[in-house]
Amino acid sequence: MKLLKAYFQIFITILLFSQLFGTGESKLKVFKNDLFLGEINTIQNNKLFSVNDLIVITDSRNFINEKTQKVIFYINDKKIKVTNQITFIEIEDNLFQLSSKVINQNNDYYIPIESFFTIVQNLSEPSSFRYKNDEIRFTSTSDDKKTIKTVDLSNEKEKWEFKTIIIDAGHGGKDPGAVGYRGTKEKDIALDVAKRLEKKISRNMNVKVIMTRDEDVFLRLSERTKIANDNKGSLFISIHTNAAEDRRASGFETFLIGLNKNEYAAKVAARENAVLELEGPAGKDLSGEDLIQATMAQASFAANSETFADLVQKEIKKRVQSKDRGVKQAGFVVLARASMPNVLVELGFISNPSEEKKLRSPQYRDQLATAIYRAVEQYQKTL
Ligand SMILES: [Zn+2]
Repeated sequence: MKLLKAYFQIFITILLFSQLFGTGESKLKVFKNDLFLGEINTIQNNKLFSVNDLIVITDSRNFINEKTQKVIFYINDKKIKVTNQITFIEIEDNLFQLSSKVINQNNDYYIPIESFFTIVQNLSEPSSFRYKNDEIRFTSTSDDKKTIKTVDLSNEKEKWEFKTIIIDAGHGGKDPGAVGYRGTKEKDIALDVAKRLEKKISRNMNVKVIMTRDEDVFLRLSERTKIANDNKGSLFISIHTNAAEDRRASGFETFLIGLNKNEYAAKVAARENAVLELEGPAGKDLSGEDLIQATMAQASFAANSETFADLVQKEIKKRVQSKDRGVKQAGFVVLARASMPNVLVELGFISNPSEEKKLRSPQYRDQLATAIYRAVEQYQKTL
């Protein structure tokens, strides 16, 4: 009996303490046509709100991918996509910046309140949405139950399901790419490794593989990206060989899209973008502004691109005697518009006579293809 009393006292004490030192978080009240719908949890001193609560209260169509930590939901029929640990949100395929990252806490996703609702309010009809003093008010003139549209999320799902890999053999046709001392052409090495990679993936993995080219033809950079996007690729791998004025330069490296951080990276991108001159007036290089936009647009899959790039480097290093130059970033046109995780692999320097000799060996190229294939296999496990 005494013990029970003691337990009871402890229980009361905890209750009192939790009330005294509670989190003090206020909640967001949601109204629709002046009807109170419910309350949304907030955390961090009322700075972030639970998107899961918003979905439940507004009965929004939604898609939550636990693996990639992305959430899609709707406000007034506007499609909104957020990603854990990312500062950008996508609303109807446009990108907006939040004041801080989206975070995941106890399996709920939290979005910065102030910046999010300001963006939504600015995009909404003035009468349909209002956010003020911890209150969210939706106004609708029609009966939503009757007007709910079914939205096809299969496109999104397909991407997340890792169904299709796009392999892009660099250059081709009238564009040989870099040419080595012995006359080896980058376009031929790239195509051979791409074909070997395609075979290994098709044989061993349950995914579709699309080649941007499987013969010696010329393709615009924009055509390559279009093939990737039209086929809803889950991963884009562009294969190249490097070249430098300094014949001693050697090794393999993997590039991500990004701002040209140094002269070297800018040079590699300039060389790979040079094909634009062969494309005629339609082929446009990226302006600084374009590059910033492209980098931002890829914010939601930048982490995946980086994971894959790291794996490519790791796997090549295991298999060949060549210098690991690491993962870098630069402004590659072919990567800029790809709506999926993407990398550009430079297999080696065709301008270095001994590396050119290695690249001419089918065994060496097969090792490189195996390495990229293993990287794809491991990357899938991280999704
Ligand atoms: Zn190239």
